[in-house]
Amino acid sequence: MSHDETPAPTRALGRAIMRGFIGRCPACGQGPVIRGYISPVAACSACGEALARYQTADFAPYIVTFFIGLVFTPLTFVLSLDEALGDWALYLTVGAALLTAILLLPRTKGAAIGLLWALDIPNT
Ligand SMILES: [Zn+2]
Repeated sequence: MSHDETPAPTRALGRAIMRGFIGRCPACGQGPVIRGYISPVAACSACGEALARYQTADFAPYIVTFFIGLVFTPLTFVLSLDEALGDWALYLTVGAALLTAILLLPRTKGAAIGLLWALDIPNT
């Protein structure tokens, strides 16, 4: 056995998803996985892992939309039943939903890249 061979990184699913969620490379946890707001990097700047192979397409927006709908639709419905609350409650809820979506989207994109990396499902 040669000492020059680097063992393949273990692809633990939960760890890779969490590293992606916090914006880090799913392989090493050091380099960024996203540049700008939501653009995935081609390769990790720390370990060189080729991340461009894992394209998530619209998976992250679907997850965010599902989560926002799951949380804020019942909340909006319940708040609309209380006539004592003014329109401000609806505006506040919609604003909170938008803010949550904006904050979740890049994190979910990173998590999706981590998921594809852990399952080793390249797009090319
Ligand atoms: Zn890396």
